[in-house]
Amino acid sequence: MVECSVWRGVIEVESRSQYDIIDVTGMVEGAVASSGVKRGLVNVYVPHTTAGVIVNEAEPGLLEDILEMLRSLTRPGHEWRHNRVDNNAHAHLGQVLTGPAKTIPVEDGKLLLGTWQRILLVEMDGPRTRRIIVTVSGLA
Ligand code: ZN
Repeated sequence: MVECSVWRGVIEVESRSQYDIIDVTGMVEGAVASSGVKRGLVNVYVPHTTAGVIVNEAEPGLLEDILEMLRSLTRPGHEWRHNRVDNNAHAHLGQVLTGPAKTIPVEDGKLLLGTWQRILLVEMDGPRTRRIIVTVSGLA
């Protein structure tokens, strides 16, 4: 019998500074292993408005480039209207660019990531604790 299952777990990570990128690939792989799902999808979602999720290479220079790009596009310190509320408009705008979630295919219980692809949490208003909701759905 073919059985479809949906598994959900929460990962917590601590960002270390205002801007930070944290590689959560290993934690997501662990969640997929725990789920027992062999063929399906894993969704990695942050329930936050000032942090995002991307899938890209974790080469240290590139990570700095990504943060430099986000800073230059979202201009921390610019007189954004939202800064009258809590002074973090740049982080909200950065999340508009990264998105709050990514979905990755799962096959034979493994993530179908390319050789250089990693799942990266992008912090733009840290340091703080961030929650990542991991949902694995598919055939067990
Ligand atoms: Zn805000």
